[in-house]
Amino acid sequence: MTTSTNEYPTKAYGAADTSGHIAPMDITRRGLRDDDVLIDISHCGICHSDLHTARNDWGRTSYPVVPGHEIVGTVAALGNGVTRHKIGDRVAIGCMVDACMQCSHCEQGLEQYCKQGMVGTYGGTDRHDGSKTHGGYSTRIACRDEFVLKVPEALSSEHAAPLLCAGITTYSPLRTWKIGPGSKVAVAGLGGLGHMGVKFAVAMGAEVTVLSRSEDKRADAEALGAHDFLLTTDKPSMKAKSGTFDMVLNTIPVRHDVTPYLHLLRIDGVQVLVGMIDMMPEMHSGLLLGRKVLTGSGIGGLAETQEMLDLCAKKNIVPEIEMIPMQDVNTAYERMEASDVKYRFVIDIGNSDF
Ligand code: NAP
Ligand code: ZN
Repeated sequence: MTTSTNEYPTKAYGAADTSGHIAPMDITRRGLRDDDVLIDISHCGICHSDLHTARNDWGRTSYPVVPGHEIVGTVAALGNGVTRHKIGDRVAIGCMVDACMQCSHCEQGLEQYCKQGMVGTYGGTDRHDGSKTHGGYSTRIACRDEFVLKVPEALSSEHAAPLLCAGITTYSPLRTWKIGPGSKVAVAGLGGLGHMGVKFAVAMGAEVTVLSRSEDKRADAEALGAHDFLLTTDKPSMKAKSGTFDMVLNTIPVRHDVTPYLHLLRIDGVQVLVGMIDMMPEMHSGLLLGRKVLTGSGIGGLAETQEMLDLCAKKNIVPEIEMIPMQDVNTAYERMEASDVKYRFVIDIGNSDF
């Protein structure tokens, strides 16, 4: 594989320390390898994982870090061997930019579970030169062609962006556990992931309940298509629904007791944790003896992500978004932390000050 020596100086925003404060910084995108695509970024969604990483919530952030893994833009240049994309194509990158593509997991289209470890879009380590990867809070990015997805014509770039993480992370478990007509699904936490979980589960024909701490989201839950709303602090209402759900899709981003959500499951029902909460509180195993399943799920594979994008275009399943300029990202983080986002911030990279 050859690499062009023509590197690309790039404007970005990132965090320099555990304060998580996001400020302008300069980075360099590599000269293109034979299989690389250079993308001019137009939009990037803000995921709660960006905030976790910027603030070192998981204790493994290496600074500086440029977050952003809900990336949409236009192909600006191609490596010598790229045939699957053309200059000018509208394309997208999600949470991973590389994997071995040879292990049994990659061969099944589960690149996110690559046995050698997938390379994260930011804070990851490049498989070829060992450099650190930087994400979509930037004006351009170079990425291996297979990890660049196609944005269908019918999806606007700003609506496509959140699908790359919030979308696929909720779509994948609903598909894995075969949610469909007759399924009863509860979505815990109505934020970026949660609201997409509601939209997908409704589109799949399930009966959907939102589990939220925020009474003021009741009307929104209904507007998103949910059939019921349970205030998680309302213990009698939670108790009344014991043993009724096939799935709880848990998107809560902080360490918390998952026991109340296990109570909601029927026999063989499954609670899928997608929130990244690191250590779990202690839990009494007796509940699991009621043949309940507690598991987790990470994003989705490349083919599944493309399938989801195409489906969203066909069925007009799009996120609820609030567009912001890059320089407002710190305020957006504060609002996300206060659950004051309806329901995904998207950075208008193309119209921001860098
Ligand atoms: P978000 O937009 O901030 O939404 C999270 C929602 O959880 C909030 O809107 C809130 O909903 C609820 N919540 C927040 N704080 C809470 C607390 N202290 N106790 C109980 N509920 C609380 O976040 P997001 O972007 O959807 O991300 C959610 C989590 O998924 C994050 O941990 C993120 O890192 C993780 N994630 C995982 C994957 C994966 O591959 N597994 C991919 C992407 C993101 P209510 O107001 O309705 O209670
Ligand atoms: Zn994410």
